Amino acid sequence: MADVKALRCRECAAEYDPGALYACEFCFGPLECVYDYGQIADRIDRAAIERGPKSMWRYASLLPVDSPSHNLGTGYTPLVRAERLGAELGLARLYIKDDTRNPTNSFKDRVVSTAIAKAVELGFKTVACASTGNLANAVAAHAAKLGLESFVFVPSSIESAKITATAVYGGTVVTIDGNYDQVNRLCAEVAGTRPWAFMNVNLRPYYAEGSKTLAFETVEQLGWHPPDHCVVPIASGSLLTKIDKGLQELHKVWLLSEAPRTRISGAQADGCSPVYRAWKDGTDFVKPVKPDTIAHSLAIGDPADGLYAIDVVNRTGGAIGSSSDDEIVDAMQLLARTEGIFAETAGGVTIAALCKLVATGVIGRDETVVAYVTGHGLKTLDALHGRVAPLETSPTLDDFDSALERAGVVVEMPPDGPEPVTPYANESGRFAGGSSGRSSGRSD
Ligand SMILES: *Cc1c(COP(=O)(O)O)cnc(C)c1O
Ligand SMILES: [Zn+2]
Repeated sequence: MADVKALRCRECAAEYDPGALYACEFCFGPLECVYDYGQIADRIDRAAIERGPKSMWRYASLLPVDSPSHNLGTGYTPLVRAERLGAELGLARLYIKDDTRNPTNSFKDRVVSTAIAKAVELGFKTVACASTGNLANAVAAHAAKLGLESFVFVPSSIESAKITATAVYGGTVVTIDGNYDQVNRLCAEVAGTRPWAFMNVNLRPYYAEGSKTLAFETVEQLGWHPPDHCVVPIASGSLLTKIDKGLQELHKVWLLSEAPRTRISGAQADGCSPVYRAWKDGTDFVKPVKPDTIAHSLAIGDPADGLYAIDVVNRTGGAIGSSSDDEIVDAMQLLARTEGIFAETAGGVTIAALCKLVATGVIGRDETVVAYVTGHGLKTLDALHGRVAPLETSPTLDDFDSALERAGVVVEMPPDGPEPVTPYANESGRFAGGSSGRSSGRSD
């Protein structure tokens, strides 16, 4: 049994039994899972975790579910030492947490794994969500695996790749002529009229907890050391707050002997930066905006956890960076070119913010920095339209040579480098490579 004692209102601290509840009856504040850390601490230690499954379920004791009912292989994604990108930015110790490597290629598999396990526990047969795209993918895939019905609601303006990669799992995809905030409002109404487990509405307290696993894994992968600085993309702001909560919990259950002092910085796109603006202006409210950015997965104009995210940023000594669509695509290309990681536009938002926070001195050059890359580039191919192009040629060596020349590509032949491989004709008259005079294509 998970040691969730209660759901507690973040505003007035009223407590409720852990069920499918998300808003306080007294003040409408959001509810959050509260644990018995003493009991959890008695049960876990580093060695037991290291022996656990190579997925986010190695941290099941710190999640609000009795037992994981499924495993699509979510989590335990690589923490990549980004030496080449670090060198370009002048950072000594930069890491990328590569969450493109999840079953549906975004970090949303973590929150859905958690919420859907809870939905099964609570007896729901149908799962649903309001999504900016990635959540839709994850809900549809997990529902398919568990044999549940699914309904996902998305703005019709999101990337077609994300709609197709949701519909393929066989649930119902509902596209809505409106922005995410309108979709979300509709879902709150639907949740009141249907017995469905809306991952990010009536199951939101459980859903949000799944994000903590990004913090847990990062610390473990750094040899049980918390990073000095994290850079985190902001949509609703939930992920950012849960990275902070996850880091602090590691100390509460004595997996870390001291409370981490990690600085947490956020990243938004200029075309949807309500949290950045409220943080910069120092207001005590987040003024909603109408999103207009290529970073569709972060396009929430009225972010539920915006103020809580600002609290974390200010308390930990972080900052928030906001970037234009052009800077976002530049950053996607920079990450791909230096690290071989193809991120979606949200990853571009994170890397663009990282660049700015280094340039303005917010991030120190000697800090151990972790940037969270939360979704895969194949989901947002259109963003690169006109930015990258192949070298085109007909299939002759002469045409290839002139194509290289036209493109201004100079091929160096250093005297002590490898020699070009001499081709030879095989029996069918085709050329084959192989300087030893042998190849699998020859039968002599
Ligand atoms: C949903 C999402 C986020 C952040 O979401 P929050 O609502 O702030 O928790 C970040 N990156 C990607 C790719 C996402 O899909
Ligand atoms: Zn309350």
